[in-house]
Amino acid sequence: MIVVMQAGADEEQIQQVIDRLVGLGFDIHRSTGVEHTVLGCVGRTIDFDVRDIELLPGVAEAHRISSPYKLVGRAFRPGGTRLQIGPMLVGGDEVAIIAGPCSVESEDQLDRIAAAVAAAGARGLRGGAFKPRTSPYSFQGLGEEGLKILRRVCDRYRLIAVSEVMSETQIPMMLDYVDVLQVGARNMQNFNLLRELGRQRHPVLLKRGISATIEELLLSAEYLLAGGNYDVMLCERGIRTFENYTRNTLDLSAIPVVQKLSHLPILADPSHGTGRRDKVPPMARAAVAAGADGLLMEVHYDPDHALSDGAQTLDLVQFEALMQELRQIAAAVHRQVAPAAAAAVR
Ligand code: PEP
Ligand code: MN
Repeated sequence: MIVVMQAGADEEQIQQVIDRLVGLGFDIHRSTGVEHTVLGCVGRTIDFDVRDIELLPGVAEAHRISSPYKLVGRAFRPGGTRLQIGPMLVGGDEVAIIAGPCSVESEDQLDRIAAAVAAAGARGLRGGAFKPRTSPYSFQGLGEEGLKILRRVCDRYRLIAVSEVMSETQIPMMLDYVDVLQVGARNMQNFNLLRELGRQRHPVLLKRGISATIEELLLSAEYLLAGGNYDVMLCERGIRTFENYTRNTLDLSAIPVVQKLSHLPILADPSHGTGRRDKVPPMARAAVAAGADGLLMEVHYDPDHALSDGAQTLDLVQFEALMQELRQIAAAVHRQVAPAAAAAVR
């Protein structure tokens, strides 16, 4: 159930309503908007009449929610979620650009890439240290050493560090190094991992599973919010279809659909979404035109020799050119992309 308080409701009235709802067996998730406080009520309840809640002082309206997800639904935060993570705002006017190699390979490698993506206007640096690889013989990532490199390089260029967490056992260690914990497509329904991430107060980037529906993606996000972690952004990274020219089929229609159903920001990953470097710029441009709140892209100075996902990785020149195009497209849909920095901060 969702309870919307009146614009002028005071703290005492809000607390009275919360006490009543708790008495009915609900867990309460409070969202304080600019005008209205919204109370998201989840959990098992004693039978009750919604009108009894609507009659409480300060209540504007109360609705039973028939959708399976309660807290990620638009109604919980009609104005949308904005995540301010250091200098990066996700879900606001700016289209947040997170770029970097598929995997952290060395300090030199990451430094060189970070300098270029920061100068081109990226706010976040991605780099996997724990890699979910199809083959056990492929490069598996540098582990904690890779995260130390990522942290140092991000601090050097004032970038937000984004890296994938594969298991709940890695969370405490990773909190020291990364600003955003990425949940990969293969782990979208790793419910133990989601439950543990729900207990954290650390931003999470949740990728859509390879064969997940939008509803399943939103239900996975619900695990995080139900645990009390509201700092969540979603990411469309392509789904598996019968088409095999591209590695995946980037479902750009998921962007407006998620924006209608949910208040959570949604990013697009045209790198994993296409699997082919030459297809990344057109799909990145299309994602911004479709209203994506951000992009996650793989970039390397020498993609042909990258230790993972080279075929879908842009080189530095391609990335810089794409950023200029994205600025024009963002302006056409009333958004912006951060300006190119005159020189990278050191
Ligand atoms: C990645 O971002 O490097 C990655 C492994 O992505 P996905 O989980 O979407 O395959
Ligand atoms: Mn990759």
